[in-house]
Amino acid sequence: LGGSISRALQQMSNATVIDEKVLNECLNEITRALLQADVQFKLVRDMQTNIKKIVNLEDLAAGHNKRKIIQQAVFNELCKMLDAGKPSFTPKKGKPSVVMFVGLQGSGKTTTCTKYAYYHQKKGWKPALVCADTFRAGAFDQLKQNATKAKIPFYGRYLEDIYLVLTYDFVERFKKENCDLIIVDTSGRHKQEAALFEEMRQVSEATKPDLVIFVMDSSIGQAAFDQAQAFKQSVAVGAVIVTKMDGHAKGGGALSAVAATKSPVIFIGTGEHMDEFEVFDVKPFVSRLLGMGDWSGFMDKIHEVVPMDQQPELLQKLSEGNFTLRIMYEQFQNILKMGPISQVFSMLPGFSAELMPKGREKESQAKIKRYMTMMDSMTNEELDSSNPKIMNESRIMRIARGSGRQVREVMEMLEEYKRLAKIWSKMKGLKFPKKGDMSAL
Ligand code: GDP
Ligand code: MG
Repeated sequence: LGGSISRALQQMSNATVIDEKVLNECLNEITRALLQADVQFKLVRDMQTNIKKIVNLEDLAAGHNKRKIIQQAVFNELCKMLDAGKPSFTPKKGKPSVVMFVGLQGSGKTTTCTKYAYYHQKKGWKPALVCADTFRAGAFDQLKQNATKAKIPFYGRYLEDIYLVLTYDFVERFKKENCDLIIVDTSGRHKQEAALFEEMRQVSEATKPDLVIFVMDSSIGQAAFDQAQAFKQSVAVGAVIVTKMDGHAKGGGALSAVAATKSPVIFIGTGEHMDEFEVFDVKPFVSRLLGMGDWSGFMDKIHEVVPMDQQPELLQKLSEGNFTLRIMYEQFQNILKMGPISQVFSMLPGFSAELMPKGREKESQAKIKRYMTMMDSMTNEELDSSNPKIMNESRIMRIARGSGRQVREVMEMLEEYKRLAKIWSKMKGLKFPKKGDMSAL
């Protein structure tokens, strides 16, 4: 995906005359990538139309870098589409605000409620959590568990008919206790959609939220627009949070959610833990949407943690895109030696989240060492081949014997290699920007 865009842009840079045909080719490639990233078809078409209006090739004075102008135009257009035009209601510290979370079951509401509370608590707020999800057994337990962990006052009850009254009571009580951020978690069951939206309307009436946040799973795909719109029609959605951005989905549905609710994205969820929660930042989000990774952050990190003399070599290898087991071995050495180099790769979607999950560095290091022991039993031919097919059964068994490890473990190591090689291959042919040169993307 990232590869195809870079290829498209690359082709353009190689073309001596950039004409309409090349522009169309480039836009078509980008269109395909955006559709794969779950951006709604209509929005992609709008983007294309706008780009063609902005980038009038004939008007471009000679001597300008046309390729850069087109790249920048696509990038800017996507940023603009994520701009809701007005900021969302922002709660003020010390003044009670009620924030209600809505979204389908499994979208990450309960998790995000706690993250949102925790984020503000760390900044000196006094948040409280109220569970208005009485539909799913265990909903309250989940909130209670999260709240207890973060030492946040909470309230909820098991399945009750009169919960709306109670929810109202407790929102009021927390206000009297000087809580300044009262967060209401709701149900999101799939069945009986009409009933769900009626319930959201009732909870909203009972709790009078200052802000309603629509929580969206980044992987819901093309369904995002209808889903966001349906919630917007029953309650006054004023902001969007996109969850599970640590997964494979690029989150193109966020553009739909912004368009359908006319509200900005304010945070993203990047993991299951309480602190895996970030203020939404449009530029890295769009870079990722285009499959380009966050190059500015990536390059800064490279300059920061990779020793100066190793930088050109690493970038050279990245752009060649041939990821051999030996390169993996060298990168593992770097990780063990320097620790923070793993941060470099975490800037690239999918690279280190699985290999080195946050908070489990010790385990990850042990795993890497284990992998390296197995690789020590490999031949040069095996280490330098970029063809995974040569790793047949007898080679795997020999490596397992030689390193005193299980065949299963060797296979796991090779799986890890394949996963990294796949990501690495996306970087093939990329021109890496020099420090501070963002316009090259
Ligand atoms: P709800 O039904 O909308 O309340 O959703 P939950 O908060 O119960 O979350 C559903 C599942 O998604 C849980 O297993 C969460 O741990 C998981 N989850 C929520 N947010 C994230 C995230 O940002 N990243 C990942 N990886 N998992 C998440
Ligand atoms: Mg829930």
